[in-house]
Amino acid sequence: MTGAAAAPGAPGAAGAAGLPPLREVIARYGLAARKGLGQHFLLDLNLTARIARIAGDLRGADVLEVGPGPGGLTRALLAAGARRVVAVEKDPRCLPALAEIAEAFPGRLEVVAGDALEIDAAARLTPPVRVVANLPYNVGTELLAGWLSPPCWPPFWQSLTLMFQKEVAERIVALPGTRAWGRLGILAQWRCTARIALTLPAAAFTPPPKVASAVVHLEALPAPRFPADPATLARVTAAAFGQRRKMLRASLRGLAPDIEGLLAGLGIAPTARAETLGLDAFCAIARTLDARHPVA
Ligand code: SAM
Repeated sequence: MTGAAAAPGAPGAAGAAGLPPLREVIARYGLAARKGLGQHFLLDLNLTARIARIAGDLRGADVLEVGPGPGGLTRALLAAGARRVVAVEKDPRCLPALAEIAEAFPGRLEVVAGDALEIDAAARLTPPVRVVANLPYNVGTELLAGWLSPPCWPPFWQSLTLMFQKEVAERIVALPGTRAWGRLGILAQWRCTARIALTLPAAAFTPPPKVASAVVHLEALPAPRFPADPATLARVTAAAFGQRRKMLRASLRGLAPDIEGLLAGLGIAPTARAETLGLDAFCAIARTLDARHPVA
C-alpha cells in the first residue's frame, strides 16, 4: 500500500511508506549503474537519513535534489519532512522508481526529467530552498560553481548539502596557506560558510567509486564577507591560481600595467604567491582594479 506514508520526520520513515528496499527497486527496473552518468548509489537508508539531517530542518522548506537515481536520498528528504522535493534526473530509466516514491508521498515530489545543467530549477521552487544532492562527479563542480555565481546575492537557496569526491570537498573548505586553497575555496567561502559534515569511504556506494567522498554543507551568508565585484574577483583568482607557482607580480601582470605598485599599495608583497593570500586580499585587489578602471 503506497499511500500509507510515514509521518514526516518520523524515525525510520525513509524505509517506511510502503516502499520496497532499494536493491529490489534497482533489480526490478534494471538500474545497472552507468559510469558516464556518475552513478554511484547510496543504498543504506540510515546514511541517506543522516545526509538529510545535515541539511538542517527541512520542514517548511522546498528541496532541490539533483540526480535522485533510484531515490534513496529522495525518500530520506521526504521522510525528514521537506515540504516539497524537486528532483532533476537525467537517466530516464530511474523515472518509474521515482514515480513510486511520488505516489507514496502525495503532492510532495516533482520529478523533472533532464539535465540539471540546462534546467532552471529555481523557477520551480518556493523559498526557503535547500539544495541536497549526492552529485554526479562529472558535473558536480560545474553545478556548484553555478549555484555560487547567481545573478544576485542572496541566491535562491539557503543552503547546499552536497556529496563530492573528498579531494573536491577539501578544496571547498580549504584555508589560505594550504595546497588545497584556490578558486573553488574562494568562490565558496566569499559568500558562504562551508564545512565538511561527513566523510564516506568508497565502499559506502554501489558500485564503489575509486576515491573517498565527503558531504559539504554550505550556508549562504546574507552578504559577501568583503566587498568585490564577482566578475572581477573571478578574473583575479583565475589569473592568480592559473599560475599558482608564480609570484603575483608575474601571474597578475595581465590585469594592470602597474601590478607591482597596485599590490605594494595594498601592503601585499609582489613576490608573494597566490596560495598565501586570504580572501580579504583577493577582494582588495579586485576592488582596486575596479576603482582604477570603473565599468561605464
Ligand atoms: N541520489 C542517488 C543516490 O544517492 O543513490 C544517485 C546519486 S549518483 C552519484 C548521481 C545521479 O545523478 C545519477 O542518478 C545520475 O543518473 C544523475 N545525473 C548524472 N548527470 C546528471 C545531470 N547532468 N543532470 C541530472 N542528473 C544527472
